Amino acid sequence: MKCNWINGLREFSIIENFFASLPYSRKDVVLGIGDDAALVDVPPGKLLVSSIDTLVEGIHFFEEMPAHALGYKSLAVNLSDLAAMGATPCWVSLAITLPTAEESWLELFTQGFSLLLEKFKLQLIGGDTTQGPLSITVQVLGVIEPDKVLRRDAAKIGDIIYVTGSLGDAAFALNALQYHQQTIPDLLHRLYYPTPRVEEGIALGGIANAAIDISDGLLADLNHILTRSCLGAVIYPEKLPLSPWLCQSASFERSMRYALSGGDDYELCFTVSPSKEQELQNVLRAINCSYTPIGIVGAEKGLYVENAQGRKLASILGYQHL
Ligand code: ADP
Ligand code: MG
Repeated sequence: MKCNWINGLREFSIIENFFASLPYSRKDVVLGIGDDAALVDVPPGKLLVSSIDTLVEGIHFFEEMPAHALGYKSLAVNLSDLAAMGATPCWVSLAITLPTAEESWLELFTQGFSLLLEKFKLQLIGGDTTQGPLSITVQVLGVIEPDKVLRRDAAKIGDIIYVTGSLGDAAFALNALQYHQQTIPDLLHRLYYPTPRVEEGIALGGIANAAIDISDGLLADLNHILTRSCLGAVIYPEKLPLSPWLCQSASFERSMRYALSGGDDYELCFTVSPSKEQELQNVLRAINCSYTPIGIVGAEKGLYVENAQGRKLASILGYQHL
């Protein structure tokens, strides 16, 4: 498209000053930012993995969200999708629509974005810069060996269901922001700076049968695995991993609700055959990942929640108390 002006800054000077100079360059990028399209070298024998997500102001984040956190999170949520496939991320594209071009905002946004580029050695290879209501679209491309792919439709009867890390923190923080209530910094950090479980996803390749990242809440996301695999499951809420920050901020009942139905944690939920338990322990301990068994996959369709009082069909949209 012909060169635009965004608030006095020429589109190409925004690209030049903020996006073309980001930190990491990879040997497998044949042609990066600056031409009509980018060229990358995909290693022979590997599959190309692609994922894209858009964050729109007012829908996916509040106006108050700091630019640094927004830059970080817009890349984190895509990396989380690649992690849930077991893929190694390599290349990133960024399409950004800005209402105005404020240099300080762009500086902070690109700093947040760069944290994950550097951490995972990714290169920004292209994108688009336009004017309009604030919206950020990120595409991440990665590679994977064909026999290491973690799909949603591959859970097996008898698999143990696990989650990484802890659940419910981000949902607590989101709720606090919505109702203008105080939240401790650790919980807000979980909402603004989720950790994409990239190393964990790669480690699970060849061990887990199915995996998904938890963006919409454990019940809703686990249900995707179950419906795609044509199976059911029972989960045990007492086993859900809750962070000490959540436990100190909310009642057990409320923490449970956030852990089951809140989203935005970007932990992985995955299923593993009991025969691979030792292998699982070895690979996840080697990368210092905490993980917790929370349930079991079965032939009977439906997602059930079971505690000492009994077993009940989970309501996917809103967890109902037992
Ligand atoms: P065209 O008009 O051919 O689409 P653009 O002026 O949109 O070209 O972009 C010029 C170059 O800058 C392209 O290589 C494009 O991929 C890159 N680019 C544009 N916006 C961004 C951005 N936000 N992040 C990274 N690269 C960008
Ligand atoms: Mg363009």
